[in-house]
Amino acid sequence: MAGILLEGENVTIEQRAAHARALSAEKAEVSRRRASELRARVGKHKLEQALRIPGDVIADEEIAAGGYYTATLGSSEHLRIIDLEGQQAVDFLCYDASDYENRYNAANTIKMNRSIYVGKGFKLYSDRADVLMTVSEDTVGSHDTIGGCCSSETNYLRYGIENTPSCRNNFIAALAEHGMGSRDIPANLNFFMYVPVGPDGATEIVEGRSEPGDFVELVAERDVLIAISNCPQVFNPCNGWNPTPIRVIHWRNHS
Ligand SMILES: [Zn+2]
Repeated sequence: MAGILLEGENVTIEQRAAHARALSAEKAEVSRRRASELRARVGKHKLEQALRIPGDVIADEEIAAGGYYTATLGSSEHLRIIDLEGQQAVDFLCYDASDYENRYNAANTIKMNRSIYVGKGFKLYSDRADVLMTVSEDTVGSHDTIGGCCSSETNYLRYGIENTPSCRNNFIAALAEHGMGSRDIPANLNFFMYVPVGPDGATEIVEGRSEPGDFVELVAERDVLIAISNCPQVFNPCNGWNPTPIRVIHWRNHS
């Protein structure tokens, strides 16, 4: 019985790819209908709230589905990430701007927050156990620390399709702008992504819980460099099978 993955010794790469493509097309259609209904019902109200910025805007950009974004935030500046259509995974990394080796560390962050799910008040710790950023607002309530980023290599293993766009390639492109390379990619955070873990440890990416206009916001606890991949994945539920744009607002408190 095939789920998201077509598995088994006798399954060919071609069969696996055909299954992944057919499932993606079918699910994307359902997802678009859901997003359209939610936009009409709650989207306008949520977006109005998301666009109410209690300070001075430094930058305000829409990031296309599958695109990436990178910026430097001064200490105490804010980054608001708005999920415009809902169920969009936003892969996230941050680094101490004065020393890129002091970067986001997932294991330290999970240990210090005693949770694998990110929410308001959650602190992002570095390799040296410094707090780089804190989640200051969150209208969803749960974001992922363990699913990592998609790559063309894992997409080939799982779905039998080569050379897919991926968050790993987006991170490589974003970090290249700052003189970094693939060695500088640690395990990342995933805003709006949901990866529940069962009592026996079983885990899987399932559809996200965010609706159109939901947002998460971070405040920089020191000068930080951030990198975002607006996930292009279409072969699993991390984006509700339908990658969509996000909006990123960088702002500071009124002086
Ligand atoms: Zn991805």
